[in-house]
Amino acid sequence: MDPGSAPRLRFAPSPNGGLHLGHAYSALLNRQLAAEWGGSYLLRIEDIDRARCTPALERAMIADLDWLGALPPPPYRRQSEHMDDYAACIDALVEAGLAYPSVLTRGEVRAHVARMETQTGMPWPRDPDGAPHYPGTERDLSAGERRALMQQDRPYAIRLDMAAALTRTGPLTFLETDAGGSAQEIVAEPQDWGDVILARRDVPTSYHLSVVVDDALQGISHVVRGADLIQSTSVHRVLQTLLGLPAPTYRHHPLILDAEGRKLSKSRDSTALSVLRGAGLTPADIARMVGLG
Ligand code: GLU
Repeated sequence: MDPGSAPRLRFAPSPNGGLHLGHAYSALLNRQLAAEWGGSYLLRIEDIDRARCTPALERAMIADLDWLGALPPPPYRRQSEHMDDYAACIDALVEAGLAYPSVLTRGEVRAHVARMETQTGMPWPRDPDGAPHYPGTERDLSAGERRALMQQDRPYAIRLDMAAALTRTGPLTFLETDAGGSAQEIVAEPQDWGDVILARRDVPTSYHLSVVVDDALQGISHVVRGADLIQSTSVHRVLQTLLGLPAPTYRHHPLILDAEGRKLSKSRDSTALSVLRGAGLTPADIARMVGLG
């Protein structure tokens, strides 16, 4: 953030299902902090998954936010309209030898991991979501061999060469603030993720890549989002550093849980805003339910 410039926050949902109480909390908190700090708050539509994000769901999401009183004024950046911005960053990372095309399917990775675990008697590393790290079979291909792989008629994913990236960036941290406003420097642990996917042949971006590009392009100074994304922030710091983008300040807020203590999901509708609204609840009731009323 430029010194002296006003804070800028964002709410960045994916229109792949209805918004629930957890989204309401995040949107209202972003709106409230922007107002308290004399800053602004914007809506970004994270719709890179064209199979699951639909115009109807996007319209419903905007209607829910409007009803809640948490809809910022337009324009709204729709990620699906900016694929060229993301593709340019992917190309730069491939050119710099920091990302590579990978072709093993999930099943092939599982088979490789099972073989290695039997051979070594050691557990294969897994990422914070529990998925095995990619074995990096194509990591050592020459630039020409990588290009040839990408020209073949088969699916591939572009992955970050995490070891090469971390050699370039060195150790990283991020600034995490809490509800009281105090800030703490957290050590990033991107190595826990292994060679993350940055793009696929048919979708030239990923959540990680597009979120860092957009936060920078939109001048976001404070990223306020759910605690389930705090580990992703380590990957975001690597990408920001490699791409020469500024690092926002972060606040990962607690998640709203259901009565059984589970994370809310777009597929269970007991806490869907549309359902609560249909049952006669008001926006003020929702704000009270999430502790912001
Ligand atoms: N689009 C992401 C989601 O709906 C949130 C991204 C973010 O806030 O960084 O979970």
